[in-house]
Amino acid sequence: MSKEHHFDLVVVGGGPAGSSAALIAAKNGIKVALLEKESSIAETVRTSGVTWIQSIKEFGIPNDCFNPIRNFSFCSPNNEITISDSIPRAAVLDVRKTYRWLAHEAEKAGADIFLKINVNEVIKNNSGDIVGVSGVGPNGKITFHSKVVIDASGFPSTICKAMGFVTQWKRFGAGAEYEAKVENVDSETWWLMVGKQYSPAGYAWIFPLGNNIVRIGVGIGKPESNVDPTQRLEELVKKKLGPIKKLGKITPIEFHYGLIPNDGLSRKTVFNNLILVGDSAGQANPLVLEGIRYAIKFGRVAGKVSSDAIKSGKTDESALEPYEKNWRKEIESKIKSAGKVQDRWIGLSDEEWDKELDIIKELEAEEFIDFIKADFGLSNMVKLATHHPKLAVRQLFNLVKGKN
Ligand SMILES: Cc1cc2nc3c(=O)[nH]c(=O)nc-3n(C[C@H](O)[C@H](O)[C@H](O)COP(=O)(O)OP(=O)(O)OC[C@H]3O[C@@H](n4cnc5c(N)ncnc54)[C@H](O)[C@@H]3O)c2cc1C
Repeated sequence: MSKEHHFDLVVVGGGPAGSSAALIAAKNGIKVALLEKESSIAETVRTSGVTWIQSIKEFGIPNDCFNPIRNFSFCSPNNEITISDSIPRAAVLDVRKTYRWLAHEAEKAGADIFLKINVNEVIKNNSGDIVGVSGVGPNGKITFHSKVVIDASGFPSTICKAMGFVTQWKRFGAGAEYEAKVENVDSETWWLMVGKQYSPAGYAWIFPLGNNIVRIGVGIGKPESNVDPTQRLEELVKKKLGPIKKLGKITPIEFHYGLIPNDGLSRKTVFNNLILVGDSAGQANPLVLEGIRYAIKFGRVAGKVSSDAIKSGKTDESALEPYEKNWRKEIESKIKSAGKVQDRWIGLSDEEWDKELDIIKELEAEEFIDFIKADFGLSNMVKLATHHPKLAVRQLFNLVKGKN
C-alpha cells in the first residue's frame, strides 16, 4: 500500500456516522477515503443497537438487519408495567450486519475503504488548519491529504482532540452487555430495569434479537456513579434479578463494552476544513443514550455539506456552517428537554421509580415512543397534555416544557 494518498475528503471512523458521510459525499461525485482502525467494519460491537422502525425505513436499512419490538416492559424494584403496541415501532439491530451494510453502500457509491488504519496524527497547513491525517497501517506510517476531514471516530474524538479543540467528555455513560442464547424470551418485548439494584445511575436492559438471542446489559452514568458496569452485569446475571430470571439458562455468545457521551450538545462541530459527527459531536438522546439514528442522519448531512463545499472550492468554517445549523435545528431543543427528564430520572429513589412507572403506564404506545425518542415537538406535547388532562403525565409535560 502506498504511503501517501490524496483525497478530497477523508472520513475517520467506519461506524454509522462515518459510513453515512462517505456514502453521500461519494454519491456527490468527490474522491472519498473512509479510514477504520479495526480489521473489519464493526469487528468490535460497542452498542445495544436499539432504534426505531421509522428511521430504519427512512435510511433504507434492509429488513434482515433487525428484530422488531412491539411491547415495552419496565420494571423497578416493586413495580412492573408493559406498554403494548398494535404494530412494532422499535427494533433491535443486528449491529454488525447493519454497520457493514452502511459501509458497503458507501463503497458501492465509490468511497475507498481502508481498514487497519489507526489514525493518530493530524496534518496542518501554515495557518494551523487541518489538511489531512496520518496513521499506522499494516505497513507502518500512512498519510492521507484532503480538503476536508470528518471526525467520525466516535467517543474518543481522535481528530478533534489531536487538533486541540476538545478534551475528553466529562459526563458519559459506560455500558456492558452480553449477547447470549437464552431458554425463554418473547422476541417482541424489550425490558428496561430501573432502580439502584440494577443501575445506580442509568438502567439495565434485555433486548431480544430473535432466535432466542438477547442482549442483556447495564448502563451506568459517569461521574454520577463509580460502579463498574461489567461487574454489575455479572452480578445481575448471577443473581437473575427481576425479568432476567424468566430467561432461564443464559449462555453468553459475545461480550460488548462501550462509552457514550452525555455532555449535552456542548461541542462546536465545524472548524476550518473539519466536521465532527455522531458520538464525536455528542449527538445522543440522553433519555436512553441512543445515537445510531443521529449518527446516520447527520453523517449524511455532513457528507452533503462537506462535498458541496469541496466542489465550491471553499471549505472554511463558514462554508461548513450549514451542517451545524441543520443538526442543531433538528435536535437541539429536544435534547435539552430530554436532558431535564434524564436529570430527574438520575435522582429518583427506588420508591420514586415505582411511582414513575405508574405515570409512564398511562401513556399510549405512540405517546411513549415519542417520549422515549425525545420527540418533544410542541404538537406532540399538546396532544399529550390534552389526552391526559388530570394525570400525573402532566408532570412530564411540565418538566419538558421547563415549568418544573
Ligand atoms: C453500551 C452502549 C449501548 C448503546 N446502545 C445504543 C442503542 O441501543 N441504540 C442507539 O441508537 N445507540 C446506542 N448507543 C450509542 C451508539 O452506539 C452510538 O451513538 C453510535 O455508535 C455512534 O456512531 P458513530 O459512528 O459516531 O461512532 P462509533 O459507532 O463509535 O464508530 C466509530 C468508529 O471509528 C473507529 N475509530 C475510532 N478511532 C479511530 C482511529 N483513531 N482511527 C481509525 N478509526 C477509528 C472505531 O473503530 C469505530 O468503528 C450505545 C452506546 C453504548 C456505549
